[in-house]
Amino acid sequence: MRIVRFKDVDGNVRFGSVESKAEAEAELIAGDIFSDFELTGKKVAIKKLLAPVDPPNVIAIGLNYRDHAKESKMKIPDHPVVFMKLTTAVIGDGDSIVLPKEAPDEVDYEAELVVVIGKRCKHISPDQINDYILGYTCGNDVSARDCQLRFDSQWARAKSFDTFCPLGPWIVTPEEFDPADVRIKSILSGEVMQDSRTSHFIFPIPELISYLSRQFTLLPRTAIMTGTPPGVGFARKPPRFLREGDEVIIEIEGIGQLKNPVVKE
Ligand code: MG
Repeated sequence: MRIVRFKDVDGNVRFGSVESKAEAEAELIAGDIFSDFELTGKKVAIKKLLAPVDPPNVIAIGLNYRDHAKESKMKIPDHPVVFMKLTTAVIGDGDSIVLPKEAPDEVDYEAELVVVIGKRCKHISPDQINDYILGYTCGNDVSARDCQLRFDSQWARAKSFDTFCPLGPWIVTPEEFDPADVRIKSILSGEVMQDSRTSHFIFPIPELISYLSRQFTLLPRTAIMTGTPPGVGFARKPPRFLREGDEVIIEIEGIGQLKNPVVKE
C-alpha cells in the first residue's frame, strides 16, 4: 500500500491510500496508521500532499554506501555514524528547498532511502524489524557544506536549516517493498547526479534499525535517513551546489519520485 498524508479541501490533515501521484483523490484510511487502521473505500480529494509523516525525531546516518566510501577514499566505518536533523526542516513533495540567507552558497543534495517507524521499539533484532517499520519513503538530506565542513564542528546547523529535510511523496509498506537491492537516484535540473543501488549499503536496513534501537527508543513516526550514494555536489569536479531555479528529484525504484524546486530566502 502507498500511504499519503494530505490536506483535504477543508484544511483537515488526513491519511489515505493512492496508486500514483497523478491521482487527485485518495482512499481514506480510518483509524491510526501507527496502530490499527483500515481502508474505508471512501475517496477524498487531495488539496495538497504533505510530508508523509511528521516525525518526533529525524535520525540520519553518515557514510553508508561502499561505493561512496571508495569514491571519497574514506575508511569503511566499524559502526554507523549517527546524527540528527531538526524536525522543523521537514517539508513534503513539491515544497521549495530554501537556500538560507545565513549560508546560501554551498547547499547540497543527498538522495536517501528513509525508513518510517510504525511501532515504538527498543533492543529489537534484525529479523524483527518488519514488525516495527510502517514503511519506506524518499528523502533528501539537504546539507550546507560550508557549515558542515568548515564553519562548524558539529553538523546540526548544516543539516537542519528550514526545508532541509524533504520527505515523500508517500510511504510504501514493507509487504510491497524490499529495501535490500533497489536503484536510488538524484536528478538535478534534468541531470542524473547520483545513481546507485542499496545493495552497496555498509549497514543494511535490518542491521541498521536493530543498531539504532539498541541506542535509542524508536518512537512511532520516527524518520531514519539511511545515507547517500556517490555523486553529491561537493564531491564533483567542479562542485555543483543548488541554485535558485533548480529542481531536485530523488527517485527510488519501487517508491517513486520526490520533487522539490529550489528558491532563495
Ligand atoms: Mg546524508
